[in-house]
Amino acid sequence: MKAKNMGIKQKNICPECDSVITLYKEPKIGDILECHVCGAESEVIQSNPLELSPLEEEK
Ligand SMILES: [Zn+2]
Repeated sequence: MKAKNMGIKQKNICPECDSVITLYKEPKIGDILECHVCGAESEVIQSNPLELSPLEEEK
């Protein structure tokens, strides 16, 4: 699996499991990021500095 380096070095931390989620594009407010470790989805609520709010899954 190749990961292109788009010049984005910013990383964020999963609010659920504290794993680092690598960003492949510039995060924007309202974007939904999915943690590859625990599968939790988080919404970008602030982009500079990056801040995430965990989304509650509907089950
Ligand atoms: Zn996680």
